Amino acid sequence: MRPLSVYVHIPFCLRKCAYCDFPSFTAPETLVEEYLKALKIEIEIYRPFLSERKIETVYFGGGTPSLLKPEKLLSLLDLILSGKPGDDLEVTLEANPGTVNLRELKALKEGGFNRISIGAQSFQDSELALLGRIHNSAQAREAFEAARKSGFENINLDLIFGLPGQSLGDFLYSLNQAVSLAPEHLSLYCLSIEKGTPLFLKVKSGELHSLGDDLVASMYHSACRILAGNRYEHYEISNFAQPGYRSRHNMVYWTYGDYLGFGLKAVSFHDGIRRGNLGKVDQYIASLKEGKAPIAYRTGKRGVAALREEAILRLRTSDGFLEEELRQKYPRAFPAFQKKLLALKESGLLEESKGRWRIRERYFFVSLEIMARLM
Ligand code: SF4
Repeated sequence: MRPLSVYVHIPFCLRKCAYCDFPSFTAPETLVEEYLKALKIEIEIYRPFLSERKIETVYFGGGTPSLLKPEKLLSLLDLILSGKPGDDLEVTLEANPGTVNLRELKALKEGGFNRISIGAQSFQDSELALLGRIHNSAQAREAFEAARKSGFENINLDLIFGLPGQSLGDFLYSLNQAVSLAPEHLSLYCLSIEKGTPLFLKVKSGELHSLGDDLVASMYHSACRILAGNRYEHYEISNFAQPGYRSRHNMVYWTYGDYLGFGLKAVSFHDGIRRGNLGKVDQYIASLKEGKAPIAYRTGKRGVAALREEAILRLRTSDGFLEEELRQKYPRAFPAFQKKLLALKESGLLEESKGRWRIRERYFFVSLEIMARLM
């Protein structure tokens, strides 16, 4: 039986950041409590499924899961694992600077969390203010140091680049600050200015200006060079890890593995079926109060659609995919798909070696265009 990963969505934040269009919001304590009760009911609904599979990774994302007290996070984790934690389990908490302290981090570490992902985003206070983050750069450093002191040996830092007004030097300053802390993992995200966010309105009104594509590309490529020089493996478009520290949880998403998602708008994927939860918190809670799984949609792809999806997800990683594996899995759909692969190889955007297909690292930055050509 295939192993399973579990994602838990905690949608609460202290304040909405200026660029954020994730399912997250501020909420009174009573709503948080109701949501946690609903989450527990949802986990119990899937108990038979959880019990029959080996759970390999658990990821608490958000929102800001680190807003919850350790005992609340640990009681959710215990419920998921139901007293049988695996010996090689990866358990990650997303944490925001300003919401964690040494005592709580120690409790989380002792309770079974062994990876922490800190949303530093930048080490320039003016940029953090522009993004509407709740913390400054000193707090990001403090959060990192507290995580280390409390025993976390697997820490990720998130950084965002391509901010309005940001120069290459500004971004590299933040990157070098992050590298100097020696995290095991770094995620670099290019800022996407989403419609309806305060940042979008400022750009639309002309108060702020988006950066040109060349500058943003040069930030990305400079970061790739610096991180390679510091022994980080560029194993996915936006992700870099020291040897042995890839995010096992995220690798499950990119290798078409099985996962259950609990919480608001969370997505599950197993046995070829993708399922998404309701996106309105009152509907999510009401459904679970009635004992019903809070499902908003269910889709299943087969044949060429499934092949495309799996190939595109796998191409996000530096491992790409093995032709033989996908050919065997999708025997009828593969020959037509192969023509597209060969055309991309011809143009130099994809490479193939010993039957393994990959996007060349220098083209990771334009991977969306490459993937569009595989559709
Ligand atoms: S902390 Fe993250 S989820 Fe919360 S508002 Fe900011 S960007 Fe959105």
